[in-house]
Amino acid sequence: MCLEIWRHKKRVLLLLLLMATGSIFYYLYTLKLERERDANVSSTTSRLEREVSELQAVFESKVIPNLGALGRPARGNWTSEEMEAMEKSQLETGYNAWLSKRISPERTLYDMRHRSCKKLEYPLEKLPSVSVVITYHNEEPSVLLRTLSSLRSRTPFLLLREIILMDDGSSSVDEKFNNFLQIKFLNMVKHRRITTQVGLMQARVAGAQLALADVLVFLDSHVEVTHGWLEPLIAPILKNNRTCTTPIIDTIDYENFAYRRGKPSRGFFNWEMNYIQLPLLKKEAVAMPAPHQNPIMNGGLFAIGRQWFAKLGGYDKGLKLWGAEQIELSLKLWLCGGEILEVPCSRVGHLYRDGNFKIRYTDKDKNAEKKLISRNYRRVAEVWLDEFKDKVFANAPHLTVIPVGNLAEQRELKKRLHCKPFKWFLNNLAWDFLNLYPVLDPEDYASGVIQSTSSPKLCLDRSESPNGRPKLANCSSDRVFPKPEQHWILTNRRELRSGFMCLEVRNSGQDVYFYQCHGQRGNQYWSFDSKLHLIISGQDKGARRCLEAQAETNGLTTGDCDPQKPKQHWKFGHQNNQRLQQIWDRD
Ligand code: UDP
Ligand code: MN
Repeated sequence: MCLEIWRHKKRVLLLLLLMATGSIFYYLYTLKLERERDANVSSTTSRLEREVSELQAVFESKVIPNLGALGRPARGNWTSEEMEAMEKSQLETGYNAWLSKRISPERTLYDMRHRSCKKLEYPLEKLPSVSVVITYHNEEPSVLLRTLSSLRSRTPFLLLREIILMDDGSSSVDEKFNNFLQIKFLNMVKHRRITTQVGLMQARVAGAQLALADVLVFLDSHVEVTHGWLEPLIAPILKNNRTCTTPIIDTIDYENFAYRRGKPSRGFFNWEMNYIQLPLLKKEAVAMPAPHQNPIMNGGLFAIGRQWFAKLGGYDKGLKLWGAEQIELSLKLWLCGGEILEVPCSRVGHLYRDGNFKIRYTDKDKNAEKKLISRNYRRVAEVWLDEFKDKVFANAPHLTVIPVGNLAEQRELKKRLHCKPFKWFLNNLAWDFLNLYPVLDPEDYASGVIQSTSSPKLCLDRSESPNGRPKLANCSSDRVFPKPEQHWILTNRRELRSGFMCLEVRNSGQDVYFYQCHGQRGNQYWSFDSKLHLIISGQDKGARRCLEAQAETNGLTTGDCDPQKPKQHWKFGHQNNQRLQQIWDRD
């Protein structure tokens, strides 16, 4: 019996021994596996790190420490070759791309917010996270990189779900740069390429379709966000999910990348459908920096609920390339149950190109591109402006000859969402607009030739405008209906207009240029004193200058106004004397 037990015990002990050795081997085996995995991971990490730092070195080798820091103008003692390179890059892209490469993508910016904005607190856990959607076509890599870097460093991590970066058919793909972005921003940036350019509207819609967060923030590819930009921008959407918000758009200088304070904006469009700014209403100005209504957004920078954007149908699918999309979306928002608020506590810098640089987004000839853009404007006018479209077509007759395409879907959407008429928009959001831009235009002040009284053979002639500087030429024989190059109108809006072009002054009123009419008064604001025969530039009484004929050179200059100077005397082919008597009434 005893022996029996002993034999049994022995077997149990043997079994236990076997199990113990097995566990030890198993433990050693898993330890080995873990070590191998660790070794693998660390070799991948160090490979990634190496690649990042190599690529970083390539992309940042040119960076000059502290250049443009705090958003100051990036200045240096450049050699003449460097200056030449800058000019060349500016002619190619409309901004100083050479300099951009030398400014750190992580440069610091001065905090320009109103002091009360800095005191506002937003509970991060209550705010929704966002998907930022950026589309680009042939953007300069260093500029794009600064956009992304500023987003990463100035957005609370909790709120930034993803950046969806859509390459809208840029002409070439820079693999190295793409790898660099992927490594530098890891999972934060989702970079997608649309191989054939679809235009900014459809690229944005495609980006929005990939988005996972409840709120979308659309940005241009050449911006820098500032400290605290996102929280105040999304807070109003939390209150009302049909609110769309826009930040104050600051200016990044195209020559030296200085970051400058932008003005609060109350956007609108005039009867030619050009984007304009209306002054803030008094109560809005007093309540600054509280959010205020923004009738028409500037277009490139806004936040909107993802579902609300989808319900509005995104952008009209018939809009191509670029242009008019900000008017379409803004009107749709307001008329179909939403609103747009500008949030002055949120500031984002936008790189505006040189005003003389005409951006081209296709290889098509200039005219074809213009037609594409005009078609966008016509689509928006046809669908959203009701009877007021006739007013636009009277001012911009070229729109009426452009084939507009099918509008059925847009009209159906307007019905489905019970959108209000355009008249509601005018009456509720911008009654002051109608005072500045009445539906029935008052008569113009004068028209026909502008003839020098001291050299009566000479008239202002727009065909004689080397470098945009107008000159004088022999007068047409018909002074009231002269050849188009000499036909000028002193319009009821106080422009000196010939076709789409206007006379303007630059360099504190010293020089006269001939440039596209911008409808913003300012440097294109003119008066005619029919008693003293003076043509006077400028709104500000202290800074007015008078047009002067330089008969010896056929030149046109300005001088301090002096009614005794015959060179400053002019007359128009036709003068509406009744209107001219009132010209100073509203001054
Ligand atoms: N863009 C695009 N596809 C196009 C044209 C433009 O993705 O076919 C992008 C462009 O790169 C920019 C944004 O759309 O990021 C807005 O264009 P842009 O900055 O020229 O407009 P602006 O600021 O001059 O109104
Ligand atoms: Mn832009």
